[in-house]
Amino acid sequence: MKVFKFGGASVSTPERVRNVGSIIASFEGPLLVVISAMGKTTNALEKVVTAFFGGDKEEALRLFEGIKTEHLAMARDLGVEAQAAVQLTDFFTEVEWLLHDKPVRDHHYYYDQVVCVGELLSTAVVSQYLNANGVANHWIDVRDIIRTDDNFRDARIDWPFTAARVKELVQPVLSSGSIVLTQGFIGATGENESTTLGREGSDYTAAVFANLLEAEGQTIWKDVQGVMNADPKQYPDAQWIRELNYREVIEMAYYGAQVIHPKTIKPLQNKGIPLYVKSFLDPKAEGTVIHNASVADLPPIIVHKQKQVLMELQSKDFSFVSEGLTAELYRIFDTVKFRPNLTQNGAVSFLCVLDDHDEKVQALAHHATQYFNVQITRGLTLLTVRHYNDALVSQLCGESSSILKQQTKETIQVLLG
Ligand code: ASP
Ligand code: MG
Repeated sequence: MKVFKFGGASVSTPERVRNVGSIIASFEGPLLVVISAMGKTTNALEKVVTAFFGGDKEEALRLFEGIKTEHLAMARDLGVEAQAAVQLTDFFTEVEWLLHDKPVRDHHYYYDQVVCVGELLSTAVVSQYLNANGVANHWIDVRDIIRTDDNFRDARIDWPFTAARVKELVQPVLSSGSIVLTQGFIGATGENESTTLGREGSDYTAAVFANLLEAEGQTIWKDVQGVMNADPKQYPDAQWIRELNYREVIEMAYYGAQVIHPKTIKPLQNKGIPLYVKSFLDPKAEGTVIHNASVADLPPIIVHKQKQVLMELQSKDFSFVSEGLTAELYRIFDTVKFRPNLTQNGAVSFLCVLDDHDEKVQALAHHATQYFNVQITRGLTLLTVRHYNDALVSQLCGESSSILKQQTKETIQVLLG
């Protein structure tokens, strides 16, 4: 069997939903399909939560009304308004009930209860559309399958429980030859509270299913030809890469390339399941295959991370940044849940480069001032090039000043001011 994952951009217009329908229809054999929230729905739902948690119930309801209208219009355009109505109304009501109350629990909890509805709405509409157009499928609420802990917004999967549910509820449907259509990114606790697995987490959900169902392959359908060696929005001559191995993709994700959700690779690698990245705009084009091969002659892979912060920590009493102090620092990173993108140790100083999440930068600085004098520089760019050559790196650095540099045989990172 195969697992397909379609991202939000693939179902952002009625025409694109029809296109997804024809891609699914052209495949034979058992198939599990994971579909994301439509277009920018997740961002829109985040705004609903912010308004609600900020005490502005009216604004939260008004913003949610916009999301309702969009989904009803989508169902109407696809000719399945009547079929989708009951399910959509149930999900709308679930959210509206919650928005009518005052928040009594923490922000992350409400985030997950509201944001999860994006995938439920989109899959409900797409499932009805497919059923009405000759692509019979079985819609499953993934919250009945994917069990997680209650670490809201970054929930961890309970694998044994989830595996048992897949066997009990998903496997029989696939064995009967039906297509299973379900959501990514969301799950539920043992108390039936909704959870989410982290933004862009649908790739990961698809990989969890692929692992548990021992799929022959997973395909992620995107709006690009496959994995590229740089962001095509930044580099018009970004190149398509035909073949990669799991290790390279994990490295790329680690350095910030927005290719595939970083958690996706492990469940696939563990069972040797190939991952294909293909274009839903050109389904016949070859795409990229990611598997367990050794791949030679990769082009340079370029990642630009903007909005970086340099935090310089100088030990207060001029004592060396010894193991003790370094360990303390890593405990602080852990407490604040903030991983530096690059670190460098000196005699009495420690440098780290971070994403500019204001709250977390403040929290980190606050903890660190116990031991260090802290100095912060904002507005920097971290350039990473894997499989680099010097000419390319100096071309990419251009006129910018290089503040910090780190390199191994494979990878160079330069912090640019
Ligand atoms: N809809 C979620 C997001 O936009 C999950 C996903 O698309 O993977 O982050
Ligand atoms: Mg997405």
